[in-house]
Amino acid sequence: MGEIIKGKPVADKITEELICEVEHLKTKGIYPKLAIVRVGARPDDLAYEKGAVSRCKKIGIESDIVELPADISQENFIKELRRLNEDSKVHGILIFRPLPKHLDEAVIKYEIDPEKDIDCFSPINEGKLYEDDESGFAPCTPRAVMEMLKFYNVKVTGDNAVIMGASNVVGKPAALMLLKERATITVCHSKTKNTANITSGADILVVAVGRANLVNEDFIKEGAVVIDVGINVIDDKLCGDVEFEKVKDKAGMITPVPGGVGSVTTSILAKHVVKACKFQNNL
Ligand code: NAP
Repeated sequence: MGEIIKGKPVADKITEELICEVEHLKTKGIYPKLAIVRVGARPDDLAYEKGAVSRCKKIGIESDIVELPADISQENFIKELRRLNEDSKVHGILIFRPLPKHLDEAVIKYEIDPEKDIDCFSPINEGKLYEDDESGFAPCTPRAVMEMLKFYNVKVTGDNAVIMGASNVVGKPAALMLLKERATITVCHSKTKNTANITSGADILVVAVGRANLVNEDFIKEGAVVIDVGINVIDDKLCGDVEFEKVKDKAGMITPVPGGVGSVTTSILAKHVVKACKFQNNL
């Protein structure tokens, strides 16, 4: 059976470092604060939100949930976002995406203050990611994927890495980050043909689609590292995109859901709030 690589030890390590850092900031009278902007109540957003709030609490970061009605107008959404941009007590803003179709992300992404944009929504931070400019904020989830690979000593350089999913939040930035480490990358999306043929050549397979049980053992190369980013809710239970029971014997390493990437994502989120807070306080 493959090694089940859990997020908790990775998240714990990051959390411990952050607790010290936040304590130190508080001695200077600086209190890091996150605002989470959620439109409606999608179950995967709620699951992520719960994890993020409890991680922040553990670290000593205050978090505010800004819950907006599912039918909020674009004008009112932007008003709310500008209020958070201007609130000096808020250091980081997380907007759950995808936003409902009637809210135009192509417009809204220019509204978030890049210095508070801790999950890389703003084109400024997207550009910095593309340029490998560490002064920006990379998206938390693909960064968490990279932290998992590093923590568990996965050799990335020279490996064939396949990413299933091509969103701006997970798939595309994961591809850039793996490329930076000099993996040879392939990105699969909804129009990819014979996906299993492609993924079964992967040394590292990152799955970020959002469809339960999409990936079975036919998609996996013997001994591959399988990182399941998917979060799905079936009968009130969380599961990933990978059929864990079928794949775990063939994979060399595999992340569980829950208990995998998600817990690391929230600690990266907290890390970014602290980074933003320090930057905004000229530290
Ligand atoms: P998304 O915006 O809906 O994007 C899904 C991507 O999957 C799209 O690029 C789509 O292709 C692609 N896709 C659809 N069917 C496919 C198939 N059969 N094979 C390969 N690719 C396919 O979703 P997302 O925001 O990236 O999130 C993906 C999943 O990760 C969701 O379950 C989400 O809840 C989860 N997530 C987890 C975390 C975490 O911390 N663990 C954080 C964020 C999101 P097209 O571009 O061609 O449509």
